[in-house]
Amino acid sequence: MLFWVNIDKPDRKCTIHRNCAWVDKIKETPFKGIGEIKRDGGWRSFETETDSENYCKDFFGNYRIIKHCIEISNRITEVTREKTNAEQDDKYLIEVKNELNDCWDSLDNGTQEMLSIARYLHKDFPQKAVMEVYRLAVFQYCGCLENELLAKIYRALGSERKTFGGMIECLRILSKGDRDLRNQESEYIRLREFLEGHFDTDKLFSERFLDKLKSIAYYRNRAAHMKPLKPEDADECRKIVMCELRAFMSFAVAPLR
Ligand SMILES: [Zn+2]
Repeated sequence: MLFWVNIDKPDRKCTIHRNCAWVDKIKETPFKGIGEIKRDGGWRSFETETDSENYCKDFFGNYRIIKHCIEISNRITEVTREKTNAEQDDKYLIEVKNELNDCWDSLDNGTQEMLSIARYLHKDFPQKAVMEVYRLAVFQYCGCLENELLAKIYRALGSERKTFGGMIECLRILSKGDRDLRNQESEYIRLREFLEGHFDTDKLFSERFLDKLKSIAYYRNRAAHMKPLKPEDADECRKIVMCELRAFMSFAVAPLR
């Protein structure tokens, strides 16, 4: 997952995001670009937090730098490091692997690793009594489904710099058939051809599946925006992610990746 910087010229500030409702809404406008700085600024993506910060300092040295939803992913990285040091055998990986045994081998390696961390956060994180842990587990579970879809759809297509929110929007537009495509760029046509060649698109574009994706974006945004989450939210989120990962893999009609 990438880091996104929102360069805001009128307010003279740079806001660094990881994955939240703001990132879902990234859109190219006449005055704000994606990957390109226009009159009012723009969005740029980077591999690391340091790269994002250096860019802001180098090109917008007198702007304020705001870190929006960075804390939660840094916390998960920290926890992951603790977990890796403590564990010899990854029993969490074995557990999720057994649970998803029918589609495990087709999952992206990144998703497999993320699932084992989500399982650990949800089940055995030592600070379980602290409510924070449910935010971490929810954020991580959502990331698993996001990563899998982005990997199988956009990475496979060779365009990595897409957000989950942007992808849901594209799938919604494609689900409506040709009538909304008249004036759309070739990007949609290319995406549709790819999806038709690799997936059962009746299922992929179904209202049921798109609604589930939206509910994952909702849970992830609550976690990213520090909204309180309960143990039941983590259970529900986990249920959706496990179920929809399996569903998504079953939609494939041709070998992926
Ligand atoms: Zn954010």
